[in-house]
Amino acid sequence: MIVPFHVSEMLRRVRQKFTSPADADRIAPRAGGYAPLRPVKSASPASIAAFWDRIGRPGAQARLADPETVADAPLYARSIENLIGTVKVPVGLAGPLRINGVNASGDFLVPLATTEAALVASYSRGAVAASRAGGVSTAVLYEGVLRSPAFVFEGLLQAGMFVDWAVQNAEALKAAAEATTRHGRLVSLEPVIDTNIVFLLCRYTTGDAAGQNMVTIATEALCRHVAAHCPVNPARWYVEGNFSGDKKASALGTMTGRGRKVSASVTLPAEVVRDVLHTTPDEMLAYGRVANLGALLSGQHGAQAHYANGLAALYIATGQDAACVAESAVGFTRMEPRGDGLFCSVTMPNILVGSVGGGTALPSQRAALDVLGLAGPGNGAALAEVAAALCLCGEISIVAAMAAGHFTRAHQSLARGRRA
Ligand code: NAP
Repeated sequence: MIVPFHVSEMLRRVRQKFTSPADADRIAPRAGGYAPLRPVKSASPASIAAFWDRIGRPGAQARLADPETVADAPLYARSIENLIGTVKVPVGLAGPLRINGVNASGDFLVPLATTEAALVASYSRGAVAASRAGGVSTAVLYEGVLRSPAFVFEGLLQAGMFVDWAVQNAEALKAAAEATTRHGRLVSLEPVIDTNIVFLLCRYTTGDAAGQNMVTIATEALCRHVAAHCPVNPARWYVEGNFSGDKKASALGTMTGRGRKVSASVTLPAEVVRDVLHTTPDEMLAYGRVANLGALLSGQHGAQAHYANGLAALYIATGQDAACVAESAVGFTRMEPRGDGLFCSVTMPNILVGSVGGGTALPSQRAALDVLGLAGPGNGAALAEVAAALCLCGEISIVAAMAAGHFTRAHQSLARGRRA
């Protein structure tokens, strides 16, 4: 029998903690002594102070509940419950990133919030290379945020009758959903039957908002219309049947998209690769072949190096829902020879960003959108193109670093070196 080393190591650590039979109590249920928090939705300076009275630790209070945060409590309260303060995440600038897009146009200074040293430097290097090559071409190719309510019937027959009714009453369902929002539009309804359960894939455009709340509220109204008017009554219905890919990388999202699908591309001349990235197109292509094989063998959804890095940093800086990186960091990076240069592209089907709504109106998040020049109505699609262009820069930089053998050195000098 082969015992993998990590299994024996874990057993060794557990045995260290369980040296006598009494130690088994460590993981037994414990009754009593538990004092739940009194939940607070509408934060105020007083509610923040009350939480800190319970926590103690004045040093932590001074760091988390600084005077500006406390004064802005009512603003933050729209985005969080049980507010005790704010965490400061360092924000760096990448770019300028030249984008020649259908929606985004200009040289963008991109604010990135991260604690990973080397990240901003890497994206910035990619941005310089892409901008020296004339800029990144971008386009939003498709748009639609999914909600997938599920309706449970007695059997296949009732499920089929429901689908028949839903198709015939699609306009009424659309009207019920759209009555809840000025900007949300139900653009498709697609039933998926699994014997007695029907998932109704509801796809919406959401204006300049990322739209997760918007589509939930609209879909709830649609479901209530079904419950009130459909002659085939579901035994149960759920506003989300976990089919939409919300906050999960999924095959459905990879194929059909959720949010905005964006392509971004640039052709790097050989001299830009040499002068900015310190390698050659051939070396980058050689590494790209290995990386694509790695993606294939490991079963990635798509094939890419590190979209999550740029997306998480951009999402946190600009008030997007950072958990959506789980679904947004999916797509395909391609690099191909073009003359003596290198054509580089990303296609990302699940970019979920908004220039309004969610956390975009919070003080520092709004300021970061202002730095980009993309705060407020009219900028949702441009922001999605910036996100894809940024990811392209990250792919270019990391592939170059791997190809040239600089990846570890960069992290060593930028992360470990500075800490030392
Ligand atoms: P939201 O802030 O809930 O809604 C956007 C608001 O902006 C709507 O009231 C909308 O009005 C208004 N609006 C004004 N101008 C607009 C414009 N030009 N385009 C679009 N809307 C405009 O934000 P959301 O984007 O729908 O949802 C994002 C939030 O949902 C994030 O905070 C995320 O964390 C959270 N979330 C929720 C769920 C969920 O299932 N509920 C799941 C994941 C994440 P109208 O609606 O009248 O158009």
